Amino acid sequence: MLEADVAIVGAGPVGLTLAIDLAWRGRSVVVVETRERGEPPNVKCNHVAARSMEQFRRLGVAARLRDAGLPADYPNDVVFRTSVTGIELSRIHIPARATRYSDTSGPDGWWQTPEPPHRINQIYLEPILFAHAEAQPGVTIRNRCEATGLAQGEDGVSVVARDLDSGAELRVRSRFLVGCDGGRSMVRKAIGAAFAGTPVIQRVQSTYIRAPRLLGMIPGERAWSCYAANPRRSGVCFAIDGCQNWLVHNHLMPDEEDFEAIDRDASIRHILGVGPDFDYEILSKEDWIGRRLVAERFRSGRVFICGDAAHLWVPYAGYGMNAGIADALNLSWHLASHLAGWASAAVLDAYESERLPITEQVSRFAMDHALQMIKARAAVPPRIEEPGPEGDAIRAAQGRASYELNVQQFCCAGLNFGYFYDRSPLIAYDGEAQPAYSMGGFTASTVPGCRAPHFRLADGSSLYDAFGPDYTLLRLDPSLDVAPLADAAKARAVPLRLLDVARRAAPAPYQHALVLCRADQHVAWRGNAVPANLLSLVDRLCGAAPAGAS
Ligand SMILES: Cc1cc2nc3c(=O)[nH]c(=O)nc-3n(C[C@H](O)[C@H](O)[C@H](O)COP(=O)(O)OP(=O)(O)OC[C@H]3O[C@@H](n4cnc5c(N)ncnc54)[C@H](O)[C@@H]3O)c2cc1C
Repeated sequence: MLEADVAIVGAGPVGLTLAIDLAWRGRSVVVVETRERGEPPNVKCNHVAARSMEQFRRLGVAARLRDAGLPADYPNDVVFRTSVTGIELSRIHIPARATRYSDTSGPDGWWQTPEPPHRINQIYLEPILFAHAEAQPGVTIRNRCEATGLAQGEDGVSVVARDLDSGAELRVRSRFLVGCDGGRSMVRKAIGAAFAGTPVIQRVQSTYIRAPRLLGMIPGERAWSCYAANPRRSGVCFAIDGCQNWLVHNHLMPDEEDFEAIDRDASIRHILGVGPDFDYEILSKEDWIGRRLVAERFRSGRVFICGDAAHLWVPYAGYGMNAGIADALNLSWHLASHLAGWASAAVLDAYESERLPITEQVSRFAMDHALQMIKARAAVPPRIEEPGPEGDAIRAAQGRASYELNVQQFCCAGLNFGYFYDRSPLIAYDGEAQPAYSMGGFTASTVPGCRAPHFRLADGSSLYDAFGPDYTLLRLDPSLDVAPLADAAKARAVPLRLLDVARRAAPAPYQHALVLCRADQHVAWRGNAVPANLLSLVDRLCGAAPAGAS
């Protein structure tokens, strides 16, 4: 029998992030995972969002992630072509990792963040997260163990797992259990949280290939991702190692329902723009169905679900894993604050109240985008490859349209920074509505529930680097006496760090003298003076405010 504060089923990117953050917060964790230690995941996710990188920075793993993946000088651009080796129509400039912090010329160059996004495949990302998690005191990872059932009582949960090599039974007893066990989640099924939504949006016949000659055949500058569209096939090709390994997605048309009925080899050649003499080797077949499925709830008692276990959607904007990482970090803080004793059990209700509405919104953005892409693929101009001025004009129009449609998903500022929590029991709302956001756009704001806009402190360092692990009170007016608020927090044992910031350093959205930020940088409260009823504010922060109180 193993014991821990929190047991986690699944050591994918979401389970590993949860384990790392809980350990960072001083909690003990046992993770059970069916895969062997070091066994790579499927070659799926390629984009780690700025918001995830910001959190990986706090957890001390961002630099290692940034240094991995494509070669340092490999452009992270997205290019639109008639085929991978064909004519270039347009390009979204996204800097290579070597210049990622200094090159602000691309459409995401204006982002106010200490950690811009990173393009790295899951096969490189996960081993780094695994090594980091494994090295944390308090984290035990049991590989080759399959969780098969769970039972919960008043004080805790026990999960039963089977050692896949010896067949022996393993029991893990913990205060809380989190299912990060992917789309087929045993934990979700065990708590009876059904998926609802749209089960099929798009089928993609996906193949991971080794093609050493391809890079040399691509005209012009390299790109991380190439969208290829011609009258024969439409697809995407991702550079995986920046040398010889590529992931080729063949987007099937709505009437192509059987993966096996589609000629994989011919499709790959149409997308790459190569003839029958071109050699490539299939490393793996990765066919997948884009869906929009969200669990009806994310919790039952002491058991929670995060990541793909709680939601699946078509990976436009590269946000499936990133949304799961945001789930994990949100839940980790709530669990750790409760386990530390300063937050009531009611704080745990915030996980679903905060994350479920965001999941619904983001999953719909991704689905809407997928539907627009399906429409665009059905309308590829038949003469797009025609030489001469008429062909040029068709390609120019197609290039503009592709850029406009896709820049919002590859530079998805709204998904990173625009989402807000508008119905959290932990946030003291002040009546001002949070500004609406879209996939690509948002308005920076300090309205409670929004992400506190990032800026550089007077010494040039990142605002977020100065945040405390729990709550941080930003004081923009040094003459304000905040001792009563600090005392009230102390009386309830709520960890609160005071951070004085020069008003001139803060951007325009900071209109208030005091802005109280949470561990995840979302604003919990703001004002121009400490509130009269201090204990009621502090009670809200630790989940002890009476239900319905505002
Ligand atoms: C083609 C494609 C491209 C994608 N691109 C992106 C992208 O660019 N950006 C992005 O954010 N997302 C992307 N995604 C989505 C992303 O891959 C997933 O959202 C992400 O892997 C989910 O992580 P997870 O940890 O929740 O689940 P998983 O990665 O599925 O991990 C679950 C883990 O649980 C283990 N497990 C399952 N059952 C048990 C059990 N009973 N006992 C023990 N262990 C168990 C599994 O072995 C696995 O390791 C993409 C998806 C696809 C299909």
